[in-house]
Amino acid sequence: MKTHISTIKYEELDFCYFKDNESIDVRGIIEFNAVIINCSDKVLANHAIHKIRSNNNEAVYLKPIFIYNKVDYVDAIMNELVDGVIYSLEQLGNAADIARKIILKSRDLVEVSYVSFETYVITKSLRYLYSRSKNTLEPITYRSSKIGYYFPSLSSNYESNDENKVLDVLKIAEDEGLLVGEFCENIYLCNNCFDGFLNYREVCPECGSSNLNSEDLIHHFPCAYIGPASDFTNEFNSYDMQCPKCSKVLKHIGVDYDKPSVIFTCRKCNSTFQDVVIKAKCTSCSTDTDVEYLAPREIKKYTLTPKGKYAAISGVANTKTDMTRMPGTVDKATFDVMLQYEIERMKVADIDSNIAFLHLSNSKELYTMIGKDARTNLLTDLVQVTRNSIRPSDIISFDSSSTLLFSMNESNHKEAEKVVEKIAKLIIQLIKDNFKNFEAKVVYKVHALDTHLSYQEQLKLLLADIVKHD
Ligand SMILES: [Zn+2]
Ligand SMILES: [Zn+2]
Ligand SMILES: [Zn+2]
Repeated sequence: MKTHISTIKYEELDFCYFKDNESIDVRGIIEFNAVIINCSDKVLANHAIHKIRSNNNEAVYLKPIFIYNKVDYVDAIMNELVDGVIYSLEQLGNAADIARKIILKSRDLVEVSYVSFETYVITKSLRYLYSRSKNTLEPITYRSSKIGYYFPSLSSNYESNDENKVLDVLKIAEDEGLLVGEFCENIYLCNNCFDGFLNYREVCPECGSSNLNSEDLIHHFPCAYIGPASDFTNEFNSYDMQCPKCSKVLKHIGVDYDKPSVIFTCRKCNSTFQDVVIKAKCTSCSTDTDVEYLAPREIKKYTLTPKGKYAAISGVANTKTDMTRMPGTVDKATFDVMLQYEIERMKVADIDSNIAFLHLSNSKELYTMIGKDARTNLLTDLVQVTRNSIRPSDIISFDSSSTLLFSMNESNHKEAEKVVEKIAKLIIQLIKDNFKNFEAKVVYKVHALDTHLSYQEQLKLLLADIVKHD
């Protein structure tokens, strides 16, 4: 189906003009500089905005968006997801100024590929903030979000039943020092489906029913009788309370009696008890949980750190969390430390050790074809194949989603080269077998470690060889 796209030209900028009754074709907007949305209906406008912002193509999701003439339905969230509201086409000049700034800032962004969905989503959100010259990511209280809070540039990447994962990703970004969080609120989620809309109630500890009757417990001082208020009724005068033990009429609270606590009776099983159990029933999956076992989460307001700003431009190569999910590898920081130790060890022991890289130079082509999920599985397989070909004492790390690093300890250079050559062949075969005969271009290089150079210099020299092949 061919969709018609209208264009409004303003000076050097082409605005894509999107109206009602058109299905927005996100591929079609790539060539435009910005988008103007003129929908009479909020649902239609929201749909178009989310389609653009959740797209995985940077040329689409960073597109400046303006709402035309419909200020009445722009809520707090829509306001964060668009770049402005214009009331007439005469204001196109303002929109053009904003769009130009965004386009200019977006030019700073370096093209990157990702090891995991998490690093992808983090980078994407950092890039959105950076391109808008924004420093903070603030939660918005939102009834339609699964957790009750919406983080505009981040939550839009998740289906509503997955929205709780936004908090996991924010935690990764905070642990990595890309964002710094400031406490706003504690929330408690269903521990089965992580929904935030729970029905809290007091239930019977015996049978779990919330059909309870509560009564004051009365302590009559003169005779020391203790019983529920219903025991203290006077059959002739309903206004008086009469002690069932000594038959005296009660006078003043605090003088001749008091109410030390409350007693509950379950209308379902007739148990009486003083302490109720508080349970929370999930309005989504109906799981009924003792409140102490709910999943607690912190809602924070986040500020971009200098490291986060740098990561916005250059991309988040990997996070510790990615690596823990890739069994058989260590994260880059650990790799660096181990390499440093190995160089120190070489100075005292008479051994030869090597470092090597293995780089998939046409990875972008492959990853575009196979998609994100398959890419993560492929990387796991690559590590598996590699792990089986090297010794347990050798170390593997990712420099990026297309480059593996090795530290091959106590082996001579020739042997190390043979091993890496063998791994390269296995990887080419693995990709060929799994992805429609795709011819992977694999380059590799082994460097003997030198005790006279720092690990940084040696890594730099090694990785410089990749650039020659790209
Ligand atoms: Zn009961
Ligand atoms: Zn009494
Ligand atoms: Zn639930």
